[in-house]
Amino acid sequence: MILLDGKIAAASVKEELKRKTASIAATGKPAPHLAAILIGNNGASETYVASKVKSCEECGFKSTLIRFEDAVDEAELLSTIQALNKDPDIDGILVQLPLPKHISEQKVIEAIDPSKDVDGFHPSSIGKLVQGLPTFIPATPYGILLMLEHFNIQTKGKHAVVIGRSNIVGRPMSVLLSSNIPQGNCTVTICHSHTHNLKEICLQADIIVAALGKPEFVLPEMVKEGAVVIDVGITRVTDATAAKGFRIKGDVHFNSVAPKCSAITPVPGGVGLMTIAGLLKNTMQAYLHNRD
Ligand code: NAD
Repeated sequence: MILLDGKIAAASVKEELKRKTASIAATGKPAPHLAAILIGNNGASETYVASKVKSCEECGFKSTLIRFEDAVDEAELLSTIQALNKDPDIDGILVQLPLPKHISEQKVIEAIDPSKDVDGFHPSSIGKLVQGLPTFIPATPYGILLMLEHFNIQTKGKHAVVIGRSNIVGRPMSVLLSSNIPQGNCTVTICHSHTHNLKEICLQADIIVAALGKPEFVLPEMVKEGAVVIDVGITRVTDATAAKGFRIKGDVHFNSVAPKCSAITPVPGGVGLMTIAGLLKNTMQAYLHNRD
């Protein structure tokens, strides 16, 4: 069984980006610059944004963190995004989700200039992705492709089952796996909360991507011997014995599923780290497209 270790695969992506940034710096040009917007004090969001900022530093990128209180006005947020859109020193913009209820996620996503949309959530980016045109791939599915590439996991002709159809993970993942790209060419089944016979469908899968947000949902009786299992789930589960009072759980019951797999991602230390790698790759792509 191959452990699809996100630390190893992400380190390799970061090394490549670090070299590229160094070669840019050697020509006297500025570094790629990511602007991250964080609203409120959600613990998980704080952690994600802090990791993104730290990873920018590791790769020699500039980053700017803009923080707002939970009560921020939607108009103020949108005008900040407009200012970042116009700022020639900013290459990529990300707004950490989820947003407070009074702010329209769709409006915020659509406010970001598609040429700086390094999270790949803008309808223009998703539309291009569906048509197989060059674009920003949403960071998590992109990270999964990079993971599959790093560990040389073959996908061509395989049956992939994606559990979850969100705009940020499941749906773009299903499109990518079915696309004519090196980590694609699968026959894809996309499952969701209304799917009947999920267990039977999963048992037919050569590759399972679990992105439903239900801790330890995928059990060994749902997994075919030799399957590749990609666990996207990240849920904080209360645990009084843990130092922080919670543990991070994936959507797969790792200990019982892993022995059946030819390859599997751990949680934590799997897809989460690759999501950041995908974001950094997109930021470099934005820089090269907009400035180089
Ligand atoms: P979401 O809540 O937007 O979507 C969940 C999807 O799962 C829905 O499409 C729903 O139909 C489906 N679903 C729910 N229950 C189901 C069931 N019983 N059977 C089949 N399908 C079911 O979630 P999301 O934003 O796509 O995130 C999914 C998980 O991935 C969460 O745990 C989230 O924290 C995590 N996540 C991780 C990363 C990462 O970097 N590793 C990035 C984004 C999201």
